[in-house]
Amino acid sequence: KPSVEFRNISKSYDNQTLVIRDLNLSIERGEFLTLLGPSGSGKTTALMMLAGFEMPTTGEIFVEGQPYSALPAHKRDIGVVFQNYALFPHMSVAENIAFPLQVRGHGPKDLDRRVKAALDMVRLPEISARKPAQLSGGQQQRVALARALVYEPKIVLMDEPLGALDRQLREEMQIEIKSIHARVGVTFVYVTHDQGEALTMSDRVAIFRKGVIEQIADPQTLYDRP
Ligand code: ADP
Ligand code: ADP
Repeated sequence: KPSVEFRNISKSYDNQTLVIRDLNLSIERGEFLTLLGPSGSGKTTALMMLAGFEMPTTGEIFVEGQPYSALPAHKRDIGVVFQNYALFPHMSVAENIAFPLQVRGHGPKDLDRRVKAALDMVRLPEISARKPAQLSGGQQQRVALARALVYEPKIVLMDEPLGALDRQLREEMQIEIKSIHARVGVTFVYVTHDQGEALTMSDRVAIFRKGVIEQIADPQTLYDRP
């Protein structure tokens, strides 16, 4: 059973133009899949539908075999990381990570355990009392990732998470995210327009163009094409 299936998904924001056209895509459990393509090709829209922030116009997404539209939000088990980390400036790292669970009524013991586990996963144990402004860009990115992992999600979604970082840090974080993926072992769906990033990080790359997947293959196969 695949982790995620898009079945005949189309999406229009204005009831006229389709920004996703009859998308069929199967993502394996534990896979690192990257959606690669130019700006406007529909990558973010695909990701937002999987995050539950946008509804498909037609078709159905299945997560672990369940029709996604029928699942209540708290059963969706999806963690999301955006480019602008959206950390709360007045809260410490630990408070930032705990906040979404607190809102949902998790008790202090469970919170504590999950926050520790999430910080451990991104290898940030020693800074949990700091505020976001006291962190480097790479550390902020890890906190954002920890905040997604604290849900203990089955799927992690990342939309251009390294877009705000300088080149060297971006390369370090590519390796870091890859190793976090290996450690956590859940499905990662990653959006970028950076081909090098896609080829470095992914098990498979889906190349988007004008709302359709033009090609989907592992990096080696993509490289080998004449
Ligand atoms: P990408 O992530 O590949 O840059 P997007 O999914 O963001 O592509 O955008 C695909 C198309 O959908 C673009 O033409 C964009 O302008 C349009 N679009 C994206 N989000 C919205 C929205 N909330 N409302 C209307 N149009 C949108
Ligand atoms: P609930 O639906 O239990 O009231 P929330 O209002 O906290 O939960 O959030 C609505 C939905 O958005 C939930 O399914 C939650 O998992 C999801 N959500 C919000 N922020 C994030 C995030 N950073 N990562 C993953 N999912 C998130």
